[in-house]
Amino acid sequence: MNNLLLYGWNDSLFRQKLSTPFSGLPHGRVTVTHKTCYEVVAEDGLYLCELSGNILYGRMPNEYPCTGDWVIFQPTDEGRGIVMDILPRSRTLCRKKSGTVSDKQMIAAHVDKAFIVQSLDANLNVRRAERFMVQVLEEDIQPVLILTKADLGFNEQEIADSLKHLAGKAQVFTTSIHSPETIEALRRSIGEGETIVFIGSSGVGKSSLVNALCGKEVLETSFISDSTGKGRHTSTRREMVLLEHSGVLIDTPGVREFGITSGSADVLSSMLDISDLEGTCRFADCTHTNEPGCAVIEAVANGTLEQGVYESYLKLRREARYFSTSEHERKGQEKTLSKVLKHYAKNYKKDR
Ligand code: GDP
Ligand code: ZN
Repeated sequence: MNNLLLYGWNDSLFRQKLSTPFSGLPHGRVTVTHKTCYEVVAEDGLYLCELSGNILYGRMPNEYPCTGDWVIFQPTDEGRGIVMDILPRSRTLCRKKSGTVSDKQMIAAHVDKAFIVQSLDANLNVRRAERFMVQVLEEDIQPVLILTKADLGFNEQEIADSLKHLAGKAQVFTTSIHSPETIEALRRSIGEGETIVFIGSSGVGKSSLVNALCGKEVLETSFISDSTGKGRHTSTRREMVLLEHSGVLIDTPGVREFGITSGSADVLSSMLDISDLEGTCRFADCTHTNEPGCAVIEAVANGTLEQGVYESYLKLRREARYFSTSEHERKGQEKTLSKVLKHYAKNYKKDR
């Protein structure tokens, strides 16, 4: 028997289940997604599920289940089932689908915290951490910065300085798999039933960290090519790991870097400590690029706002705007197309 409360099941999900037409069927959480099927952990065991025709043909692919989703399924054969419904998602980590302008790809749903993992050797990149934080905060997921490989030596002051503008918005942990107390401190920060997703380039030590938190080898650690992500047996790889007396860890393969899909300028400016300044610009609609009396530009000039942070702000804002404009246009086009189809159907019927 699996206790689904440990996997994050709660009253609010239960109420949502009751309001579906399938409240008499069992529910479970998607632990791994394959191309056409889903591994689901349910109270009485693990199921390999396919999608019902209604979901398969009635929904857009980004509305298909993703890791972390809670689904209702109809058991069929031993250990097999059909997903009949997906409970409404909240706090879903997504990214811009590569090669597209405005398509979102879901990474994990019902996430409480994101462990943004960077290693203290060459990998530490504050701009990348900011990018991850915007995406995470936008979804109401709590960001936590994890700096790994502390045993390899690093300049403490330099690191603290480069992260000082983020420190208030995210807890920061420094870890080493060779120093159990750093792992213990991180474990203590995870509450029972909490869902945590790991984000970071390959090689930064995510799998090692998951293994250290579990106290055993649950994930295969490896050094894989950064550019291709190949060399990992994704089909046999576990993505969701249940920690004893603690939470659920999700280590999705391939979550290295992603284009942001968030549109909210507020999240961006509050994260980068620009909100207070913004309020004091001469013009209420100041874009902080070339206006006279701009408090943001003034802060850069007098050194209170770091030039790098300001540039990061402009870059992320541009990206977010570009995404939301394209998304808007795409939705507009979809509407036009459906209008054309409706019109066609109506006239076609009339002609007959
Ligand atoms: P992932 O790709 O992010 O899952 O990274 P892995 O967990 O596979 O680790 C990549 C490499 O970094 C492996 O060789 C690990 O042994 C090494 N590594 C991970 N954590 C630490 C650490 O805290 N200290 C040191 N020195 N090496 C580490
Ligand atoms: Zn301004």
